[in-house]
Amino acid sequence: MTQPRYPLPLPTPQPETDFYWEKARAHELWLMRCDDCQRTYFYPRSICPHCFSRHTRWVQSSGRGTLYAFAIAYRPPTAAFQERVPYLMAVVELEDGVRLPTNLVEVELDPAKIRIGMPVEVVFDDVTDAITLPKFRPSGG
Ligand SMILES: [Zn+2]
Repeated sequence: MTQPRYPLPLPTPQPETDFYWEKARAHELWLMRCDDCQRTYFYPRSICPHCFSRHTRWVQSSGRGTLYAFAIAYRPPTAAFQERVPYLMAVVELEDGVRLPTNLVEVELDPAKIRIGMPVEVVFDDVTDAITLPKFRPSGG
């Protein structure tokens, strides 16, 4: 594995999420959907968190959504984030109905220019050979 482009704690893929990370490396965002209650959910797990059904499958997300919540981090939560502040923590509500904790990028760090409900689209940050993080940027449409 190559060194991360920046020294941050990174997710450790679990067996249930291998597919998710594999698709992220291919710059695709995939979610899990339940065939019984028809709901899509995140994070990926084989049992539906809404109705506990095991009839679940992977579906590809459009990667489009809207900004549901955000906060600008000025103080690093741990020393590893020291050189990353300020950055934008966000929750994006995908068209698929799923809320995803993520980062908002390619946007001015000015609260006046960021608004709840603004359209966003996924972009992929290849942090290492193994880990690509889905992040979001304003989509302007
Ligand atoms: Zn369900």
